[in-house]
Amino acid sequence: MGSLSQWIVDEAEKMGFDACGIACATALDKESAHMEQWLEEEHEGEMGYLTRNREKRYDPRLLVEGTKSIVTVLYNYFPKQQLGDGEHFKIAKYAYGADYHDVLKRKMRLLLERIETQTGKLEGTRIFVDSAPVLDRAWAVRCGLGFIGKNTMLIHPSLSLIASRNQEPPTTPTNPLSMIASRNQEPSTSPNIPLSMIASRNQEPSATPINPLSMIASRNQEPPATPNNPLSMIASRNQEPSATPINPLSMIASRNHQSLSTPHHQFLTAGRSQRQGGGSFFFIGHLFLPLDLTETGQVLTNRCGRCTRCLDACPTGALEAPFHIDARKCISYLTIEYKGSLDGHDPTLFKGWMYGCDICQDVCPYNRFALPNVEPEFQPSDQLLAMREKDWKSLSKDEFEALFKHSAVQRAGFEGLKRNIDFISGGELRNAVHDDE
Ligand code: SF4
Ligand code: SF4
Repeated sequence: MGSLSQWIVDEAEKMGFDACGIACATALDKESAHMEQWLEEEHEGEMGYLTRNREKRYDPRLLVEGTKSIVTVLYNYFPKQQLGDGEHFKIAKYAYGADYHDVLKRKMRLLLERIETQTGKLEGTRIFVDSAPVLDRAWAVRCGLGFIGKNTMLIHPSLSLIASRNQEPPTTPTNPLSMIASRNQEPSTSPNIPLSMIASRNQEPSATPINPLSMIASRNQEPPATPNNPLSMIASRNQEPSATPINPLSMIASRNHQSLSTPHHQFLTAGRSQRQGGGSFFFIGHLFLPLDLTETGQVLTNRCGRCTRCLDACPTGALEAPFHIDARKCISYLTIEYKGSLDGHDPTLFKGWMYGCDICQDVCPYNRFALPNVEPEFQPSDQLLAMREKDWKSLSKDEFEALFKHSAVQRAGFEGLKRNIDFISGGELRNAVHDDE
């Protein structure tokens, strides 16, 4: 790895990112073919923004002119304790704390500043956290940070898994060398639609992405999901409404550092943290840089083997086949992006999820390697922890704002969340939103 590339990866990890990798900015030809097929099947539902700016989505050099390299970071958001265990209503884990778009962008701005201490001021840089037509997971794979699972999520293998061949990932061979392939061997992946994070800001790019003034000029466009960070708001105003979460942060975790010494581990760890945590509960962020950097990662092949737990567990059948998701059936899409009536769906299939859904991640054996994040901003408030089903059913707008002022849940909004609570409660609160107003 080139010395600057190595420095960036090391610096990112010192700053608390869980993993960092670098890839050359080129067209995503193979990945775009999957996406095109997915769109052709109209599985995107009402996320019409996914059909726009396709060329820019498939080639970062068209999205941000002059981009030569993409630095991808992962940030753990797996919580210490899960909300909604038992009979309670559930929220996707990525939305327990502050809005990840704002938090991660702030941290990435600091990383960019650190890089500029080595390079001097860079023109034409951009930071994207689910905030533009960027195929997040495809870039994470290209940067060597994981593989796409059958649940369409990026799976970041645990170092402990890699280090110990006897550990049980899913059901497949555990030879780390089998995970690595030349890029031509990369199996077909998902269309990289972050459905677990459907509420994330899959936003359209600005016409001139590198000119802050043009970004400010278009404020009439869709507001960001969360209002708390003016800088990130300006940056993302040009973008289409969010879809959400993939899905993704814990930078300081006191993880047991893994010491790997065998040569074939060296390149696996070159672009990633020495922490042991793995799985799919990571936020993904990208720095687009006008720098020729050395690629850091080896692309990992899919490693699901014969496992089908995510497909078997998906209650609505949204995971129709490996790597193939129909957003229109997905609880994440339906509870966040979809604005219409949920009549016609079966509330019992929602399994108590009122915002997003983590089922296909919770059952994934790779998430056995998830470690709790220690990011203060991602911790749920005491007020949120105290909420019970009866409290959700009587939620007022003021309570909603107090609970979710700086949260990605703003994406659904008060009325959207009430609609979902009403629906999963079996319709008993059908008129509650209006009564509360
Ligand atoms: S409904 Fe839930 S389990 Fe099924 S694909 Fe969507 S997020 Fe995954
Ligand atoms: S649950 Fe099994 S099949 Fe699904 S992504 Fe995880 S390892 Fe792959």
